[in-house]
Amino acid sequence: MAEKLQTRCLIAGGGPAGVMAGYLLARAGVPVIVLEKHADFFRDFRGDTIHPSTLELMYELGLLEKFLKQPHQEVRELRGVINDHAVPIADFTRLPTRCKFIAFMPQWDFLNFISTHAKEFPTFQLLMQHEVVDLKFDQQRVIGVRTKTPGGELEIRADLIIGADGRHSIVQARAGLERQEFGVPIDVLWMRISKKQDDPQQSLGFFQHGKLLVLLDRGDYWQCGFVIPKRGFAEIKTRGLGQFQNDIVKFAGFLRDRVAEFDDWSKIRLLTVQINRLRDWCRDGLLCIGDSAHAMSPAGGVGINLAIQDAVATANLLAGKLRTGPVSVDDLRKVQARREWPTRLIQGMQVFIHRRVVTGRTSDRKESLPFVFRLLKWFPVLRQIPARFIGIGPRPEHYCSRGR
Ligand SMILES: Cc1cc2nc3c(=O)[nH]c(=O)nc-3n(C[C@H](O)[C@H](O)[C@H](O)COP(=O)(O)OP(=O)(O)OC[C@H]3O[C@@H](n4cnc5c(N)ncnc54)[C@H](O)[C@@H]3O)c2cc1C
Repeated sequence: MAEKLQTRCLIAGGGPAGVMAGYLLARAGVPVIVLEKHADFFRDFRGDTIHPSTLELMYELGLLEKFLKQPHQEVRELRGVINDHAVPIADFTRLPTRCKFIAFMPQWDFLNFISTHAKEFPTFQLLMQHEVVDLKFDQQRVIGVRTKTPGGELEIRADLIIGADGRHSIVQARAGLERQEFGVPIDVLWMRISKKQDDPQQSLGFFQHGKLLVLLDRGDYWQCGFVIPKRGFAEIKTRGLGQFQNDIVKFAGFLRDRVAEFDDWSKIRLLTVQINRLRDWCRDGLLCIGDSAHAMSPAGGVGINLAIQDAVATANLLAGKLRTGPVSVDDLRKVQARREWPTRLIQGMQVFIHRRVVTGRTSDRKESLPFVFRLLKWFPVLRQIPARFIGIGPRPEHYCSRGR
């Protein structure tokens, strides 16, 4: 017989959406358990960006000062190298936020920081190595989850289950929620390469006629994301490691002396990119947020921000009622109603970027610098538009101390 636990709110998934929702609900006095299937947060395929709107939230929560003591880099301007032209893309220095920069911080440090502070609240529990494998139903209502743990199976019942288990969400699948897929022409190869003292000082994006190499500065190494055409990895492998190393050097010449570190395909991981969205984010007893409700592409680097904004809206809209008992489907629908249009807008932009700018395939276009980037180069004021979109996003959420 599986062991059983009971709580008010159960969150499946300890990513940005799940950990932040857990923190905020616990802070509002709601008994909450967050389940994470891994033993720790140390996985290198997480984005590293903490946006000005998230930093603003940290300020509202009284955590900003401590947060900025964590090792991080402050990027006030995003620059790209586009067909060999260095182009300023986004200028964060005029944003109406306290922090006018993106903080680059390994996501495991961010998640450890939030969860450590969440543990100060008596109603918060984080259970690592607890993988949700199924949902429990009472007729049409979701009433709990079945989890796999190192100690055996555990059943946890809750008044509300929140699916924050990412792009391959089991919660969403078991709840039978209908998903709309938007085609994405790219996948990403993810690998690390050593960093040297003379290297450029901050994270970088190199665009070349539809292709892109991103280098994230992780202290003593670069985390590389190389955009390839969807299902193109087999062909790249057939061409061989030598050709692959040459491809990387074509983007970032300064890596020439060390691309030989890519000497085995096991060092290069394929991350599949999806953009999709649930038609209904909830049903009786269950709500999906973050990538579980809407998988995001890395384009624009805004998925983490959006996931956190979902978490804030969830706590603002539901904490007041959850403190004293269950919430209705109508309450859950309010979260979708609030967060759906920002999601649609951002996903629409991502689809546009994939069709027009980053397609993964080498383009035959003759011009060396696309018009939109020329505009950004000529008119500095225009750089505030991408800065606002990336740094704050549509409909930023603010911490509401009492819940609603
Ligand atoms: C290649 C790539 C690069 C990206 N780079 C960036 C970037 O730089 N900046 C940015 O803003 N966005 C980026 N994104 C998008 C971003 O990663 C997501 O939008 C964001 O992580 C969503 O957060 P989340 O909390 O909803 O889900 P996730 O971050 O996916 O977290 C889900 C968590 O749930 C856990 N989990 C999964 N299944 C279960 C289960 N059954 N039981 C228990 N736990 C479970 C997982 O281990 C994970 O910890 C990138 C996406 C891709 C594909």
